[in-house]
Amino acid sequence: MTNQQKNNVKLAIYGTLCAVLVLTIALIVAFTVPSGNKLTPQDPSEPVDNNAIVFTNPLDTTNVLMGYSATELQYNSTLNQWEAHKALCLGAEADANVYAVFGGVVESVENSYLMGTTITIKHNDTLKTVYSSLASEPNVKEGDTVTKGQVIGKVDSSAQAESALGSHLHFEVLKDGVKVDPADYLTLENK
Ligand SMILES: [Zn+2]
Repeated sequence: MTNQQKNNVKLAIYGTLCAVLVLTIALIVAFTVPSGNKLTPQDPSEPVDNNAIVFTNPLDTTNVLMGYSATELQYNSTLNQWEAHKALCLGAEADANVYAVFGGVVESVENSYLMGTTITIKHNDTLKTVYSSLASEPNVKEGDTVTKGQVIGKVDSSAQAESALGSHLHFEVLKDGVKVDPADYLTLENK
């Protein structure tokens, strides 16, 4: 064999090995990646953040009497003291409907002197909403499943801690047990 012939044989063997290798890899990929789970690009119509939660208004009207403040102190004229107000106080006429801002399960219906009739709704493992200063005997009880926008009770002035505000809804959002700004989930607008 001439050197040229030797080189041709080497190239042929090398080419065959390469082809076998490529086929083997192709077969391994074909059998290990389950069909339906091929590396297809993500559907662009799918939302990027699957956890995005948008609340509906808890009332038909939007009259903010006291906004949310995590650290900034606001004057509570009822208790005659300055305090952080980690909630939203929305004025409304007595007996105005109060709506669940999102679907969930009623965790508790309580009554306290300071915050009046209070409903707590659990939306998922981390998120809860709290509705205070409601009329007694609300429309839901502990364990009830509620849907977004469902009437859960009526506005009243039962929260003695905020009696100077008159009839209103005291609304809180709890994320992992911490009171957070309702504006993270809620854009207030008249219905
Ligand atoms: Zn309040």
